[in-house]
Amino acid sequence: MTPETSVRVRFAPSPTGFLHIGGLRTALYNYLFARRHHGVFVLRIEDTDRNRFVEGAAEKLLETLHWAGLSWDEGPDIGGPYGPYVQSERLALYRQHAESLLREGKAYRCFCSPEELDRQRRKQAEEKRPPMYDRRCRTLSRETSDARAKAGEPFTIRFRVPLTGETVFHDAVRGEIRISHAVIDDQVLLKSDGYPTYHLANVVDDHAMRISDVIRGEEWLPSTVKHTLLYEAFGWPPPRFAHLPLLLNPDRSKLSKRQGDVAVEEYRAQGFLPEALINFVALLGWSSPDEREILSMDELAALFSLDRVGKAGAIFDIEKLRWFNGRYFRALPLEERVRLCIPHLERAGYDTRDPIRTARIVDALSNHLVLPADIVEEAAIFFRAPALPASATEVPPFSQGQEKAVLRAFLTGVRTVVPWERGQIKKLLERIQGELGVRGKELYLPIRIALTGKSHGPELPVVAELLGPEECSRRLEPFTVG
Ligand code: GLU
Repeated sequence: MTPETSVRVRFAPSPTGFLHIGGLRTALYNYLFARRHHGVFVLRIEDTDRNRFVEGAAEKLLETLHWAGLSWDEGPDIGGPYGPYVQSERLALYRQHAESLLREGKAYRCFCSPEELDRQRRKQAEEKRPPMYDRRCRTLSRETSDARAKAGEPFTIRFRVPLTGETVFHDAVRGEIRISHAVIDDQVLLKSDGYPTYHLANVVDDHAMRISDVIRGEEWLPSTVKHTLLYEAFGWPPPRFAHLPLLLNPDRSKLSKRQGDVAVEEYRAQGFLPEALINFVALLGWSSPDEREILSMDELAALFSLDRVGKAGAIFDIEKLRWFNGRYFRALPLEERVRLCIPHLERAGYDTRDPIRTARIVDALSNHLVLPADIVEEAAIFFRAPALPASATEVPPFSQGQEKAVLRAFLTGVRTVVPWERGQIKKLLERIQGELGVRGKELYLPIRIALTGKSHGPELPVVAELLGPEECSRRLEPFTVG
């Protein structure tokens, strides 16, 4: 590929205080697209909306993206040939471009006050018409406009959208899009405080930063027609566009905070692993050609293509994310699983001073964990004796039959097992099975319940091994008397 045709994509978040899951998906798809095409991934901070400015939010955003495993080739922290990569540091450029459109008559000054615009909007709402600027300043003569500006009257610069005709553009996901100019507002390009609007800054920067492909959420699709008209007005070739399907709640409403967390930082705080989150997010709107689901970042980068991005909204199913997390957690080396679990065990007040025992407990429980914090509940059996049932009949397996004989045989056997390890304990259980003629659940369940107070958990010989012979005896005794 020649430099002119090479792929350059960007993620252009507005720093609002957290990274939305949908933002992570947009960033990821751009990143994967760049890698797949040996292109360049640019990170640009779109911070021109001063009302929404949040101190420190941009830094936090970069840090969260790094945590997720994403990196960029050009951006605010590392610079690059088309910087600065923060829009609030590029204000002069936007002003210049707005003024050039003004000079060419492709934009005009609007002197309508916020109160006046509000009045127009209210009237339109009453008349059930869509809110749109009524274009009263569009027809001001150049002389009047210049004179009013010179006199110091505040103004915005608006785009002179053609009144008739339509704009057609191609979207890599949605195909051909046609929009009639009649429904397009004369967009403000430069606000009265000299700040650009999203539309102007976005188009100027995508051009200035040589962006070849704009990949972003579907909510920006209505803006694209305005952007297409702006590219035309500037005489620039537009980039290619791809709009990613909406993210939906399981009830198919738009993904919202109301039905769960949408902040990546929140999932991180809960202990979700970045690899699991990335794998999950990658499949929100895209599927691999071979239908594989467990995919590493490298595998995703090798497989990703826009033609496998669907149009239909992608359902954000937290259960699926949890499933991915469990898978990724179990695949971590034991040392890493222990490192993740220890703070939770300590916070719960469990004694983790014996590193070997702690590691064994984590290993025994790993299949039962989705998040490292789950260890607290699962590991309780190894740190506290279960509460005894008030009466033996409260626990069904103890109410009749062979249970007591099983428990007595196990208690006696415990004293004979040397060395105390899972293989030998398993042999003891087999012996009891032979002697008493009980097998399966009838054999295991009474012992498991007596030892742990639960009917499920890691394999019984593993549980017994970790408890140690003394603790096993202590827990079994109350059930064998009488
Ligand atoms: N700043 C916009 C956002 O917050 C960027 C949209 C786009 O990619 O054009 O998502």
